[in-house]
Amino acid sequence: MLRGMAALTDTHAHLCDPLFDADLGKVLERARQASILAIVSVSENLADAGKNLELAARHPMIRPAAGLYPTILDMDLAREMRDFIRVHKDKLVAIGEVGLDYWRIQEEPGREIQREIFRGFVGLSGELGLPINVHSRSAGRLAVAILLEAGARKVQMHAFDGKSSAALPAVEAGYFFSIPPSVVRSEQKRKLVKKLPLSSLLIETDSPVLGPAARERNEPANALIAVRAIAELKGMEEAEVIEAVSGNTRRLYGDSFS
Ligand SMILES: [Zn+2]
Repeated sequence: MLRGMAALTDTHAHLCDPLFDADLGKVLERARQASILAIVSVSENLADAGKNLELAARHPMIRPAAGLYPTILDMDLAREMRDFIRVHKDKLVAIGEVGLDYWRIQEEPGREIQREIFRGFVGLSGELGLPINVHSRSAGRLAVAILLEAGARKVQMHAFDGKSSAALPAVEAGYFFSIPPSVVRSEQKRKLVKKLPLSSLLIETDSPVLGPAARERNEPANALIAVRAIAELKGMEEAEVIEAVSGNTRRLYGDSFS
């Protein structure tokens, strides 16, 4: 359908999820047919991270990331994950997903642990020069503040649920915002796409969730749905959007994403 156009990257998906165990080959084939060249597969824990490395060894289009999901409030597991990332840094394309989730964690003691763990991953991202793939739920403004304070430079805010006013300091710092297919059913995400410059947008799917229909399994081929929504909201051609987000992806993740 998009033959001859720039290739796309799904910059945040969970291909290690057991929901993809039975038909991953077909899922990847549909992604290829939708012009998707690469998929950043993020991890929520050590088991995910190991599985993502294995998947990447078998399927070159899968690019592994390792991180600890923000609702896991365990300093020992956070240290183990940082050690894993150091050991495997040459194979990993990012640290993620990590961040803050104030929707799930509502008590201050838990939030404090969450912030400390997040700061540890932000610091490691700077130390290793690896992009950081950030989850921020009901904590967008704070996550951005922590990243700016730490001087983070290679940042992707995934499925950002805040206002554009909370996003703009991050845009000014050169951070990127990845837009999932659920943009078609989210007024908040549509507003965000309208207000943020195309030069700061990436495409993601967060497969198996955040698809165009709430309860159906999402997959990387649906990245094109996010492209189409951005094109509509910004009054541009899909090809222009693909060209721009491909360039943005290379600026964050490097030239192997082209
Ligand atoms: Zn995710």
